[in-house]
Amino acid sequence: MDERTNKKILLASRPVGVPALDNFEIVETEVPRPGEGEVLIRTLYLSVDPYMRGRMSDRKSYVPPFAVGEVVTGGAVGEVVESRSDSFQTGDIVTGMLGWQLYQTAKGDAASIRKIDARLAPVTTALGVLGMPGLTAYFGLLDIGRPAPGETVVVSGAAGAVGTLVCQIAKLKECRVVAVAGSDEKNKYLTDELGVDAALNYKTSTDLRRELKAACPRGVDVYFDNVGGEISDGVMSLINKGARAVICGQISLYNLESLDVGPRVQPSLLVNSALMRGFIITDYAARFAEGVGALGRWLAEGKLKYAENIVEGFDNTPRAFLGLFAGENLGKQLVKVAD
Ligand code: NDP
Repeated sequence: MDERTNKKILLASRPVGVPALDNFEIVETEVPRPGEGEVLIRTLYLSVDPYMRGRMSDRKSYVPPFAVGEVVTGGAVGEVVESRSDSFQTGDIVTGMLGWQLYQTAKGDAASIRKIDARLAPVTTALGVLGMPGLTAYFGLLDIGRPAPGETVVVSGAAGAVGTLVCQIAKLKECRVVAVAGSDEKNKYLTDELGVDAALNYKTSTDLRRELKAACPRGVDVYFDNVGGEISDGVMSLINKGARAVICGQISLYNLESLDVGPRVQPSLLVNSALMRGFIITDYAARFAEGVGALGRWLAEGKLKYAENIVEGFDNTPRAFLGLFAGENLGKQLVKVAD
């Protein structure tokens, strides 16, 4: 195959329930030519993220759905291989919301792509600890959760991109941290490497509520919710007076075809004067520089670790995406497309 043949991954059909490989189609096309003011980008890494599942349905949400037959888009890192923009040069490494394709053109302006300095940190960190997941952990926990020393913080989806960082930031804030994740291997990493105080495996537990109660003898002050569903029902039954529940994600519900019904939490929020607040990370766009600065300092000081699960090969991107729903990733799930 000509080295410069392009490949694109299209949404072939809308998933019903759990997404499958046949919801995607890989097509070959010509490499596009950049127009005036544009750059040509060669993809290096693609990010696969749970929120993309929402865009594959035609339900209205905060981001519009992908059209069937359209290239899937998400976070990516690439190299500028041709530039017709004054702001970017050949060889620049950039990140932005780009398509699942080997080559693509983009507007050469700050609203479309941002240069990253590969000398400061590995380029993959722009999609993880120093990118959207890192900012989500930082602002969600600190701005909404407001953890105080000695408080108990429970984190669901604890071994993922956001969760691993929330656990560590909560430890930096001197909290008792109780993690919930889907395998013993993940939980070993959370306790041994990240220093959480207790880690529960919701997939093997026979009585998660009892285990949560034992792990949180002083109740729950902050709940960082990445998953929703029954795990969250269990955690919310243990909240303390003045507790804060940070609604970051609800991955356990993303593949449901009809609305889920669970315990009603309002009476408990009421008697505990507790707060439950959702957020979308772009709410904090004006403060991203502050977040990246703080995360970067903790990294440089060795106070923050990050894990990446890297699948090799562009064609494996849909498989890597599906793996999110099977819990195949420890830390940030990425696809390496090229060196
Ligand atoms: P992760 O890296 O955490 O990957 C998803 C993980 O979710 C899997 O590894 C799996 O781990 C777990 N999971 C999958 N299905 C279920 C289920 N049915 N029940 C419980 N756990 C499940 O993804 P991210 O860190 O990128 O995202 C975490 C959450 O945060 C997601 O819900 C995402 O949508 C949300 N998010 C929200 C943002 C916002 O702006 N509010 C921004 C970024 C992310 P396990 O082995 O533990 O099951």
